[in-house]
Amino acid sequence: MTQRNEKSLTIIGAGLAGALLATLMARQGWQVAVYEKRGDPRVKGYEGGRSINLALAERGRHALRQANADDAVMAQAVMMRGRMVHSLDGRTQLQRYGRDDSEVIWSVHRGDLNITLLNLAEQAGASLCFHRRLDDVDFDAGVARFVDDRDDGHHDIGFESLIGADGAGSSLRAAMMRNTDLGERTDFLDHSYKELEIPPAADGDFMIEPNALHIWPRGHYMCIALPNDEKTFTVTLFLPNHGDPGFDSIRSGDDAMALFQRDFADAVPLIPRLRSDWESNPPGLLATLYLDRWHIDSRAVLLGDAAHAMVPFHGQGMNCAFEDCVALANHLLAGTDRAQAFAAFERQRQPDARAIQHMALENYLEMRDKVDNPDFLLQRELERS
Ligand code: FAD
Repeated sequence: MTQRNEKSLTIIGAGLAGALLATLMARQGWQVAVYEKRGDPRVKGYEGGRSINLALAERGRHALRQANADDAVMAQAVMMRGRMVHSLDGRTQLQRYGRDDSEVIWSVHRGDLNITLLNLAEQAGASLCFHRRLDDVDFDAGVARFVDDRDDGHHDIGFESLIGADGAGSSLRAAMMRNTDLGERTDFLDHSYKELEIPPAADGDFMIEPNALHIWPRGHYMCIALPNDEKTFTVTLFLPNHGDPGFDSIRSGDDAMALFQRDFADAVPLIPRLRSDWESNPPGLLATLYLDRWHIDSRAVLLGDAAHAMVPFHGQGMNCAFEDCVALANHLLAGTDRAQAFAAFERQRQPDARAIQHMALENYLEMRDKVDNPDFLLQRELERS
């Protein structure tokens, strides 16, 4: 299949950004083809493998509204009106995000969200091609090579422009780097994360307050829990890689149980599979990706995590990726030359992405160390009044 059309787009990655951008462009009559390395999650179930739920904020909802996707997404979202801080002695305190429920954030299930956006993209007319992993790109010939990992089969596709929505480990970015120096730098955080689960209560309801983002701040480390609409919570423990406690010292499920009994005692009865979840879920790495350049003339551009992956502490990576989609769509639809559209997109979004990356790093300190500090809370109230 070859695409040679002024209004055609080849998107790599049918994750959150790829599916939203496909919807935005296909709705405007563009011919959009999306290539995704995994199988169709609507057929085999979601195999995303990380962060089961995500905090959706107004920035992201604004972008979803542009694609008429907000209603479908919000039908499955759980409202979080503030942080529920769990002190070491078991006391809890709700700190609202705003004055009332008009200023809240929402918890959405990554897999359900992805499926909703894929359905919308397909309804808008985008063509979705699964089991197509981008392997290499010949930018001079305008040909991208995809591999089907089930049988190692190769598929060569002609393209006008490639849009890289293929996440933090972007293969398009790697291919672009082989052609042009993008000025890539990745700063790994010396902390990683592990996901656990709070199941529903015996009566089928939530075990703890559902309309809050729960935080167990413990200085150098912390646990958080976000609600899912099937009445579970996804718990994420963020811990240094080294030290006490650190991922190098908490090796077994028993070690993890001892840590929780000491530092997160009120969470222990909520996580019945703590030991087995600990042993079966691998720790996830955390990093910030900086690029000096996001595009190569009219031939390729990156967005979302492929352009600016960030640590998750501000809950803004997806929200920022959604904003990228609207910005890139607007530049493409403005009808200027494609290279100019990509350059204008990069100029607009790069400073915003840098600012959010910085805030995300700062917020780790605030969440793990300051949200239970009376001086910090007083200062925050004074700033608000
Ligand atoms: P992805 O969602 O990673 O999608 C990339 C897609 O490309 C995937 O479908 C993948 O299979 C596909 N792909 C990869 N390689 C190839 C290839 N070679 N060929 C074809 N397809 C390919 N953000 C928030 O806004 N709020 C939160 O609360 C939040 N919490 C987070 C918690 C954790 C622990 C983590 C790790 C991240 C969190 N984020 C959060 C960030 C958010 O997950 C990302 O910013 C978001 O997923 C980026 O979307 P994306 O479409 O750019 O990339």
